[in-house]
Amino acid sequence: MSVVALGESLGLLVASRIGRLELVPTMDLGFGGAESNVAIGLARLGVPVTWMGRLGDDALGRLVERQLRAEGVGAAVTRDPEAPTALMLKERPSAGSSAVSYYRAGSAGSRLAPEHLDLDRIRDARVLHVTGITAALGDAPRAALDAAVDAAHEGGTIVSFDVNHRSRLWDAERAVPAYRALAARADVVFAGDDEAELLTGERDTDAQIAALAALGPAQVVVKRGADGATALADGERATQAAFPVHAVDTVGAGDAFVAGYLAELLAGASLAERLRTAAACGALACTAPGDWEAAPDRAAIARLLVGGDPVQR
Ligand code: ATP
Repeated sequence: MSVVALGESLGLLVASRIGRLELVPTMDLGFGGAESNVAIGLARLGVPVTWMGRLGDDALGRLVERQLRAEGVGAAVTRDPEAPTALMLKERPSAGSSAVSYYRAGSAGSRLAPEHLDLDRIRDARVLHVTGITAALGDAPRAALDAAVDAAHEGGTIVSFDVNHRSRLWDAERAVPAYRALAARADVVFAGDDEAELLTGERDTDAQIAALAALGPAQVVVKRGADGATALADGERATQAAFPVHAVDTVGAGDAFVAGYLAELLAGASLAERLRTAAACGALACTAPGDWEAAPDRAAIARLLVGGDPVQR
């Protein structure tokens, strides 16, 4: 019942207070990465999961691996002796806004190549989860993505693809054909509504879903932030409202949502149940700062679903 999440994880420095970065005296050190966020979300839901990727032979690489293992995520890691683990700075120019700067050009993760993959582990997994970020990192990571998807197809492994467009890494002209090619090779495609529009040219959610499904995936899920999510899976359409929460940091909601959806998919749940758990995970991920820290366990989801007292005694 295992999942492999393949991608780049980065050290993350977050400004400790609101204001211009050059005036902020201290930063908090952690790590992030869309695929490892999904992996942590799955582990918290009790799904056996491995993060696969390339890290530098450095302190940040050790931090990432140590934290993943602490969260119960397996790490299929290769170390690059010549390139550092990437780093991301997150500043908070004003209350409720954040801006990231990447220090990832030439990073170990951007040097991921097919020979660094444990293809047997992908063949043996139930799900391979990938994102468009890996495709944005360069030719070698793109080749690694293709090799991973090939292995998944050989092993009957479900391929899950979250578009995760990063306009800071590449422009739409180059990104869109790559995303469409990946979507065509995936079984489950997740896209934000802005990404769905980017890939299809459609504004209407149902038209977006139809156009994405026409590429080939059996399941398409469009995430619409506080407006919820809509999906088409094996011909069945379903829509799910967002759970109202006091959102303090929406970064990582999409990754927690994907984890919830995949956990229920593996459990054989209906489309409505997959979306409900996914939306609960997305909502709860917004309730505390951090890209993955607020990803819920089953007990937190149960409390949200029964509308329980937020005060625990
Ligand atoms: P990100 O890339 O920032 O992690 P995303 O764009 O991939 O996010 P969103 O659509 O923002 O994904 O969020 C995913 C899901 O999480 C939504 O479909 C919704 O169910 C839930 N969610 C997001 N924001 C909120 C919110 N403010 N309140 C409640 N639920 C939310």
